[in-house]
Amino acid sequence: MRGILHRYGDLLPLTEATPRLSLCEGQTPLIPLTNLGSELGVDLRVKFEGANPTGSFKDRGMVLAVAKAIESGAKAVVCASTGNTSAAAAAYAARAGLPCFVLLPAGKVARGKLAQALIYGARVVSVRGNFDRALDLAKQASEELGLAIVNSVNPYRLLGQQSAAWEICDELGDAPERLVIPVGNAGNISAYWAGFKKYGELGQTTRLPEMIGVQASGAAPLVEGRPFDEPETVATAIRIGRPVNAEKARGAVGESGGRFLSVTDEEILAAQRLLASREGIFAEPASCASLAGLLKIHEGEGLPQGQIITAVLTGNGLKDPDAAMGQSSTMVEIDDCWQSLREVLSR
Ligand SMILES: *Cc1c(COP(=O)(O)O)cnc(C)c1O
Repeated sequence: MRGILHRYGDLLPLTEATPRLSLCEGQTPLIPLTNLGSELGVDLRVKFEGANPTGSFKDRGMVLAVAKAIESGAKAVVCASTGNTSAAAAAYAARAGLPCFVLLPAGKVARGKLAQALIYGARVVSVRGNFDRALDLAKQASEELGLAIVNSVNPYRLLGQQSAAWEICDELGDAPERLVIPVGNAGNISAYWAGFKKYGELGQTTRLPEMIGVQASGAAPLVEGRPFDEPETVATAIRIGRPVNAEKARGAVGESGGRFLSVTDEEILAAQRLLASREGIFAEPASCASLAGLLKIHEGEGLPQGQIITAVLTGNGLKDPDAAMGQSSTMVEIDDCWQSLREVLSR
């Protein structure tokens, strides 16, 4: 079996007592955007994290977090989640035979993600409050009841997530020149940066990418430099007002010479449609913030010709069918006869 713990075990804090948990996560495709890339005049690829076993990059860190929880003797895991963390936690806990408790902000979780947490057998608790409140409660549950918390406050999550940066370098033969990535709790951007730096130290890359972190304009604490008490965006996976890993992410962006920028919900949804209709790639709204951000830079100052860019598509479009259905042209229904079909097809 070839998951993160097997392929990158040498770079991760494994001991003999760490169970080699795996759902064969990672090794996701790095898809060249042949149509959009040539229009923009750059070498643009997307890291399609929707191809992970639970459909998002969260699997990379969760496999390590749950393995380490087992190693430390934890009897159950708990997390707060905008959806994908809960899906990953529930799946790896199921695989490992551990109970899993997930706290979700009521009414704000995409349907696919909720379906996953339920079918994997997690105890799902819907909290009448936003993600940041749910996280406070999960931390409390962890302290009071001794459950292992597997949110990105858990250091193993970010360590496992470095593997995406390593895979990109392994495939490109070097780091990209620029990395564009959606930012919610700001763990993933920090993990990528740590991963690139680690590979730099090991001599596996000759350069480090400029890190561009993209937030939704209704939940843009890192762009505006202030917390958002009522974050709001169609991109529910990045609907976060107080990013836990804000400091690390600021460090990553600063050291790399990059920046944070925000995009509107309209820009996010337009990027989602563009990606699907021009490239045949379906990613959930939060993921498409990366492409929306890149398009914004292109419109603003332009992109250096031929630049080697990777945009991270963090989660699968199937996670959030409502977001896609809400903006797609409606179907036509016809009687079951050739006459009706011919009419429709020749319109
Ligand atoms: C979790 C998640 C994000 C945000 O990642 P952070 O590490 O919280 O910044 C973005 N997109 C998707 C699909 C996610 O599941």
